[in-house]
Amino acid sequence: VTDLSMDDEGVTLKSDRGDFRAQFVVDATGPFSPFAKKLQIRHTPTKLTTQSRGIFTHMVGVGSWDAMVPPKEHGMPYRMDQTTLHHIFNGGWMWVIPFNNHSQATNQLCSVGVMFDCTKYPPMDTPPEEEFDAFLARHPSIGAQFKNARSTRKWVSSPRIQYSSAQLSMGRYFALPHAAMFIDPLFSTGLNLTAHAVNLLGDILIQSFASGSLQSSRLAVLERQVLHKTEIFDRLVATSFKSFRKFDLWNAWYRVWEIGTYYNTLGAMKCILKYRETGDVTHLRRRFDQQYATPLAFSVKGYPELFESMVEAVEKVDRGEWDEARGIGALYTALERFDAMPSFITRRDPNDRTIGTFTLERLIRMFIWGKTRGPEHVRHYYDFTVGSFAAMAAQSLGKYASRFVGVSTQPLWDMFFTRTPNRPKTDPARPAAASVRKLSLIEGGSAGAMMPATNGLPMTAPVANAMA
Ligand SMILES: Cc1cc2nc3c(=O)[nH]c(=O)nc-3n(C[C@H](O)[C@H](O)[C@H](O)COP(=O)(O)OP(=O)(O)OC[C@H]3O[C@@H](n4cnc5c(N)ncnc54)[C@H](O)[C@@H]3O)c2cc1C
Repeated sequence: VTDLSMDDEGVTLKSDRGDFRAQFVVDATGPFSPFAKKLQIRHTPTKLTTQSRGIFTHMVGVGSWDAMVPPKEHGMPYRMDQTTLHHIFNGGWMWVIPFNNHSQATNQLCSVGVMFDCTKYPPMDTPPEEEFDAFLARHPSIGAQFKNARSTRKWVSSPRIQYSSAQLSMGRYFALPHAAMFIDPLFSTGLNLTAHAVNLLGDILIQSFASGSLQSSRLAVLERQVLHKTEIFDRLVATSFKSFRKFDLWNAWYRVWEIGTYYNTLGAMKCILKYRETGDVTHLRRRFDQQYATPLAFSVKGYPELFESMVEAVEKVDRGEWDEARGIGALYTALERFDAMPSFITRRDPNDRTIGTFTLERLIRMFIWGKTRGPEHVRHYYDFTVGSFAAMAAQSLGKYASRFVGVSTQPLWDMFFTRTPNRPKTDPARPAAASVRKLSLIEGGSAGAMMPATNGLPMTAPVANAMA
């Protein structure tokens, strides 16, 4: 798609397959969006504070971390080659994501990338593979994992990777987050933003087309939510880069993310379980209201203060106002004051390096804590019944069992133990039917007539699916 123009009646898209006429356009073209540029929604320069650049590729022959570092030594409860393995160093971090880490894998690739803090490692002219070799030479313990590795595609080198936008919504146009902003792969905030936007946008557009008038006020709410999340995620990532200077500082700091993501996930789970209990779709929509759609745990009493005080402590260390020990002490003091985490996952002990895995036993403990001992102000997060919780567990077990007919112990591993020998496969895509309705930009307007999907051109399958 090469161009877009909007008028009072709709949108015209120009493409190498001819022109398309649409009532509304969702821009899913990612970082190189020609429309974000044309509509001038992007900040120039970006307003994000994170300053990172990256080199990345796919490799084969990457060694298993667990074969090199025994569990007793790394001290984590799960195998490190069954997760996304992160290495951190003063000035950046690295991901190692093996796709061949289970017995049924058909993909031998491993995704490998290093993100550098631009202030400590400014962009260089050297080719990325040479920069990677130099990086491994500086960190021989990581280098050992790549002794026999080779890339299967060209290395990509990205200059400063951040971009941001002032708005996402403009009349008949809405930019998905990746077309409007990107921070850094750390914490997977990209898919968090994208999934949030797709879910809510889907609901808004379905309702808009059903009524015939665009719900622009709800689009504005979604835009504000994405912009707010972006602002907080940016501070989360920027502060993480500052904490990388010392492992103990990072180990204390990143717990603010664990607590945030605990509540974010719990909020979604509660809304889904409540919907299953009642069949009332408003519970699904609550996922996107003020209480549950804030970034991390920003709607939980005490969390915004926790976040701010932890950012401040790391920044003081970064500016040289505090030494590292003082900064680390301040982080644990702040965590100590926060009482809204279950007693068995408080995140206050420096030796307890991970929030752990949410096996059935832990989920049950979490549920009981929330219902009985947790502070009053977070009780609503646990407002679902034992019955719907048990049904969810049984349903998951059933799904797993049907997927892993040949590996009968798999569901038991996944639900009850921390170490699991396998991973599920994805569902095949479902077919969809296409229909297009006329959409008025005036909220509350009446439903219009059916519109042809294109200017007489046959709809291609992807377009038909996208429109459906
Ligand atoms: C190096 C890197 C690592 C990342 N790691 C993570 C991670 O670990 N976790 C995470 O959550 N997120 C990560 N992200 C972010 C994640 O990739 C994005 O959030 C996600 O891909 C967004 O999906 P999308 O479909 O909106 O956009 P994209 O995946 O960018 O897809 C855009 C699509 O539009 C197509 N397109 C572009 N221009 C046009 C045009 N003019 N006409 C037609 N088609 C067009 C492109 O070919 C592409 O297929 C990472 C991003 C990068 C760059």
